[in-house]
Amino acid sequence: MKKCCFLDRDGVVNREVDYLSDPDKAVLEAGVGSAIRRMNEMGFYVIVVTNQSGVARGLYPESAIALVHAKIRELLAPSGARIDDFFYCPHHPDFSGPCECRKPNPGMLLAAAAKYGIDLSRSYMVGDRVSDLTAGERAHCRASILVRTGYGEKTLSKLAEPPKYVVDNLAAATDLIFQMDGPDQTRAASSGVSETA
Ligand SMILES: [Mg+2]
Ligand SMILES: [Zn+2]
Repeated sequence: MKKCCFLDRDGVVNREVDYLSDPDKAVLEAGVGSAIRRMNEMGFYVIVVTNQSGVARGLYPESAIALVHAKIRELLAPSGARIDDFFYCPHHPDFSGPCECRKPNPGMLLAAAAKYGIDLSRSYMVGDRVSDLTAGERAHCRASILVRTGYGEKTLSKLAEPPKYVVDNLAAATDLIFQMDGPDQTRAASSGVSETA
């Protein structure tokens, strides 16, 4: 089974713009290309899970989402970085009723895990809101990491107690994931020796 880095989109991969729907307004956060490429190289699936309630609110058509995602892939290409898939929730409880996919619900992570055979206990969630962290926890990811980009600083300022894992940005999240996951996995793979040997 494969492991995965689940990434929130707005404020983590691309710069936060409220209700981003114009591909021309998609701008990557600093260091995101090399961060995602490192995740690729560490053997993770990289899957974006994003709440897009602008659809339920009637702010943009669902078709706009695919254009933004194509643009993000285009922006990442020069870094050799690959996003394996995008999952989005077009709903909002006030407009389209409750759903299982809108974070903090774990539906998108569970759907991705089923589609790709992902081991959630070896996977990570990175986001800039409490709802991202909660979705990661509810899906039983190994760690849910808050970045300070996007709404991250605002999220931190509202919390009485900071979350367990807080880092500056996606590049720093990648460093943390490498510490938690990378060295052991790499050794085990290259030596061919099992942990019980
Ligand atoms: Mg966000
Ligand atoms: Zn939904």
